[in-house]
Amino acid sequence: MVILKSDREIEKMLVSNRIVAETMCKLEQLIEPGISTIELDYFAENVILKRNAKPAFKGYRGFPSTLCVSINEEIVHGIPGNRILKDGDIVSVDLGVLKDGYYGDSAATFPVGKVSPKAMDLIKTTRESLMKAIDKARIGNRLSDISNAVQTHAEMRGYSVVRYFVGHGIGRSLHEEPKIPNYGPPGRGPRLREGMVLAIEPMINEGTFEVHILTDNWTAVTMDRLLSAHFEHTIAITANGPKILSVLDDSITKALVAGETGKSISNIWEL
Ligand code: MG
Ligand code: MG
Repeated sequence: MVILKSDREIEKMLVSNRIVAETMCKLEQLIEPGISTIELDYFAENVILKRNAKPAFKGYRGFPSTLCVSINEEIVHGIPGNRILKDGDIVSVDLGVLKDGYYGDSAATFPVGKVSPKAMDLIKTTRESLMKAIDKARIGNRLSDISNAVQTHAEMRGYSVVRYFVGHGIGRSLHEEPKIPNYGPPGRGPRLREGMVLAIEPMINEGTFEVHILTDNWTAVTMDRLLSAHFEHTIAITANGPKILSVLDDSITKALVAGETGKSISNIWEL
C-alpha cells in the first residue's frame, strides 16, 4: 500500500532531506584525490549528529556505516574504509537521514580530480535521467512514466539501466511502497497522487546492466567492471508538480528540473 503524506508530514520530510542535502553539499567540498572513504563517512556522521538526526543506513540490515560510497565499477552499497580516492575516479555517495520520525534519502556521483570525458558524460546522463524522471512525477501520470523516462534517456545516450535495484516510497520507513524500477514501458502501475513521497534513483552503467555482489555481501559492481553512476532525490508529488525535498533551495530545484541552470554537474549540491 502506498502511504500518502499530509502537508505537515511533507514539511517534516523537508527537514530530514535538507540535512541530507547539507551533508552532501559539504561532502562535495571534501571529495578530492587523497581522502579516504572512511574520512567522508566520519565527517557525514558528525554533520548529521550535530543536527540531532540519525544516519539512516547505519545498522540497517547490518550495514556498518553512515554513507554508501561506491567507486568506479561499484554501483551502490560500497562500505567506507581505508581506500583512498584517486584522480580520475568517480565516486557515488548515498546518504539517508532520520529526523523526527521521517526519513530523507539522496545520492550523487562526483568526479574526483580530473576524470575522463567518458566518465563525465556518464555522470551527466545519469543526473539528467533523474531530472527527466522527476518531471514525470505529476498527479495523474502513472508510476511507470517515471521508470520509462529514465530508460529512454539513458539508452538514447548508449548506456544501460540497472534492473536489480529500484527506487522506493519513503516516509516513516526508509523503504515503502511503491517500488520504482528505472526501466519499462510508460502508462503502467498506480496513478500518481498528491502526497506521494518517492525516492527516485537511477543507476546507469557504461556497459552491461548486469550486477555482481562482492563477497562482503554489500558492494554491488557491474558484471563487466565498467563504470556506473547513481543519482537520487526524495521528491513529493504536490498540486504544483514535483517538489524536490533533498535540495537546499526551492527556486533552484525548479530550475534544475526544467534544465535551466548553467551549474556544472559536480556542484549541484552547492545550492
Ligand atoms: Mg539512497
Ligand atoms: Mg533510496
